[in-house]
Amino acid sequence: MPVPCIPVSTRYDVDRATLGVLLDGEPRYRVDQVWDGLYTQLADPGDITNLPIALRDRLDAELPASLDRTEESISDDGDTVKWLWTLRDGATVETVLMHYPDRSTVCISTQAGCAMACSFCATGQAGFERHLSVGEVVEQVVVAARVARPRRLSNVVFMGMGEPLANYDVTWAAVQRIHGALGLSARHITISTVGVVPGIEKLTAEPLPVNLAVSLHAANDALRDELVPLNRRYPIGRLVEACADYVDATHRRLSFEWAMIDGVNDRDQDARELADVARSVRAHVNLIPLNPTPGYAVRGSAPERVRAFRDQLDSLGVNATVRQNRGTEIDAACGQLRANHEATPVAAPRRR
Ligand code: SAH
Repeated sequence: MPVPCIPVSTRYDVDRATLGVLLDGEPRYRVDQVWDGLYTQLADPGDITNLPIALRDRLDAELPASLDRTEESISDDGDTVKWLWTLRDGATVETVLMHYPDRSTVCISTQAGCAMACSFCATGQAGFERHLSVGEVVEQVVVAARVARPRRLSNVVFMGMGEPLANYDVTWAAVQRIHGALGLSARHITISTVGVVPGIEKLTAEPLPVNLAVSLHAANDALRDELVPLNRRYPIGRLVEACADYVDATHRRLSFEWAMIDGVNDRDQDARELADVARSVRAHVNLIPLNPTPGYAVRGSAPERVRAFRDQLDSLGVNATVRQNRGTEIDAACGQLRANHEATPVAAPRRR
């Protein structure tokens, strides 16, 4: 894979204005044709058949794809598809497409690697490589939408590799493109953050109210400092305040993610602490059985414990659901496909 020495704009990096410059000298309607080809037909430039062949060829060459498929795994029932992509500089990221009876959701990455170093997360254990570009983020959605056909891709969750709010401008530009050009409604777009408070504050001021998911995992600072190092900079009090402002401004439902870790954050007292925090901002809680990762020795909670924890939250007035761990059998969880891929250059795992 050649390393580009000048920044290469890939096909989903360019906006309409840049496309206009690229198509200078062509009839004005060409911009609409290309835009429609890329975002409605979800076509490669070479397959936009209402363009002259010479132009298709030129666009194919000047606007390359950003994602090169390195691996694809499909669950036995076909409802979960996971890809490992190699980007133009050799970095690798993952995307997961999940079909449910009532919707199809894609989970996308915003960074190659992640700098947040959450102790139990495979991506965090491998360290940070670089931010993705807008085109690299949007193309993940386009490919998933294409593969999902004839079903309509209805939901996008920014829950793949990386911390979306640490790559804020790209994340927000991607949201705008997914909303404006691909036509998904803001209520079907969810940004998941580990708790980058300034990012949440910026989101609060944006005109498109997307759903916010916060990866809480612990409701007291001592434990959260351990699990999520960013908590030392933005402790729970500040985080919850930013969340409350977000909910006030957008009227969107907030959710807290909680990876259930055996003996660490799954005790009765943890449920009580979580319930207090969740009730204060009327958050919904998603319980995720922990996926084992090489750099973190503790196991996930047993299924009975997960159910009991959920029931306890219920009885304390908190809405909680247990998230099915889609695709565990195809390594479709949290950086695992990449972690298991031999050719992937990963930094030494950060062990605690
Ligand atoms: N950085 C963002 C988005 C990516 S992580 C965030 O932290 O929200 C997506 C979700 O997967 C987060 O809730 C994260 O805490 C969770 N996660 C990471 N590793 C996990 C693991 N081993 N088991 C279960 N959930 C995990």
